[in-house]
Amino acid sequence: MRGLHWFRNDLRLRDNRALEALSDRVEAWLPVFVLDTELLARHPASRPRTRFLLDCLVALERDLAARGVAVQVLEGRPERVLPELARSLRVSLVSWNRSPTPLGERRDARVEAALRRAGADVLVLRDHTIVGPDEIRTKTGGCYSVYTPYRKAWWRAWHDAPRLATPRVRLPGKPIGAAPAASSAKLAGLLAAGSDPGGAIVAPRLPRGGEAVAARRLARFLEGPAARYAVDRDRPEVDGTSRLSPHLRFGTISARRCVGEGLERAKAEPAARAGISKWLDELVWREFYHAVLAHSPHVLGRSFRPEYDALEWNDDEEAFEAWKAGRTGYPFVDAGMRQLAATGWMHNRVRMVVASFLTKDLLIDWRRGERHFFDALVDGDPASNNGGWQWAASTGTDAQPYFRIFNPVAQGERWDPDGRYVRQWVPELKGLPAGRIHAPWEGGTLPPGYPPPIVDHAMARTRALAAYRRARQGASRARTRSSR
Ligand SMILES: Cc1cc2nc3c(=O)[nH]c(=O)nc-3n(C[C@H](O)[C@H](O)[C@H](O)COP(=O)(O)OP(=O)(O)OC[C@H]3O[C@@H](n4cnc5c(N)ncnc54)[C@H](O)[C@@H]3O)c2cc1C
Repeated sequence: MRGLHWFRNDLRLRDNRALEALSDRVEAWLPVFVLDTELLARHPASRPRTRFLLDCLVALERDLAARGVAVQVLEGRPERVLPELARSLRVSLVSWNRSPTPLGERRDARVEAALRRAGADVLVLRDHTIVGPDEIRTKTGGCYSVYTPYRKAWWRAWHDAPRLATPRVRLPGKPIGAAPAASSAKLAGLLAAGSDPGGAIVAPRLPRGGEAVAARRLARFLEGPAARYAVDRDRPEVDGTSRLSPHLRFGTISARRCVGEGLERAKAEPAARAGISKWLDELVWREFYHAVLAHSPHVLGRSFRPEYDALEWNDDEEAFEAWKAGRTGYPFVDAGMRQLAATGWMHNRVRMVVASFLTKDLLIDWRRGERHFFDALVDGDPASNNGGWQWAASTGTDAQPYFRIFNPVAQGERWDPDGRYVRQWVPELKGLPAGRIHAPWEGGTLPPGYPPPIVDHAMARTRALAAYRRARQGASRARTRSSR
């Protein structure tokens, strides 16, 4: 039997569930990637995430070439090009790992129907998360909307049946023919085209992609920073987190391998146990947000808590642009937004602060921030990005209560006490002492080129509290009316 494996968010050879299952079923195979023209139009090659993806693809192509296999890179709509290829190569089985988003699931249903019409069977497995959304249910059969009980249930599921990563690469027997050399040229062309800004977002200092890079990152993290993770994870100037998020996003490493190797390291190194245990909990947050999205797809577009759909947001374009450009006059916020623009990544603590600033201090709709993050982040992921934004806006599942509003100055003083992070990303403030760096308007004149605060935090806090209260009261009045 001949098979195709359609690579998507699983750009690796080791511990790839659908690919391994295909290996058990076919004698000859062809790896395929589809440059989806509709997706590329929305996320051009100049975007950090697309560039990272292309870099991962080049690495995958290299890894496969070293095993004598060539990837076929197709261009077009998957529901058209995949059945065409399957028919022309007389392929009877096409495998892929299940999409983690509702949009992807709908596309896959179309692809599956088209393949079946072309006479091919499909083999689809869950791989992107360790535990599937349907495997963890509350006692009443529902979905958890609070993280802590979900985490407990998640670890119960793990201990009942540990999902261990396959330690070695397992590929189907022999490759089908040779893919045209045009595949590499196509990728190189796209990467070159993407380096031209052309008005789109370009982050100049993106991380490198590929399975080998991800494996090295994991090893380096577990041997070093992991031991101090519980302490350092909130300090943006410390290189204290794994930076694996883009790799988990594109599957250059599996979450199973991260958890498995994390547990092994914790066993071997008792001093690292607390740090690693905290880190593993973050991987479970990722699984939690994927479960929330699977069970409540309405979160892509609306608040998880319907009472907040009535929030009256502020359409202040100038403030939104200042936030995006890192020119709000609040150094910790500006440092984060500039780190994002320069590297396509932002530290988690700072993501929480800039998201709170946009939604609470500027009272700008969380969906606008979510969109901007999705476009600018190299790890932009519908489930985690939405979860993070709705958490910060207090509209989500396990959200922070709306009356808890981050003070951007206090957050900077607490998590960047020496101001090293701010100095790295906001050069205008380089000369300020630690005592002034998070509130440069106090105790002297502002350094040239740095703006005064675009909003007064105390006033903004009062305004946000009133807006959230009004939305809740409106929703509760509407509920009372409808129950009469
Ligand atoms: C407003 C906002 C938006 C966010 N958008 C995204 C996004 O688009 N994509 C994304 O992967 N993460 C997102 N996060 C979560 C988190 O900020 C990043 O996963 C983390 O900063 C990545 O860095 P790291 O790989 O060094 O993480 P580590 O601290 O090393 O954590 C390991 C892994 O756990 C997962 N993880 C960690 N924290 C979280 C979290 N809070 N929620 C879900 N998963 C988590 C990630 O996959 C991460 O790579 C967002 C958070 C906020 C507050």
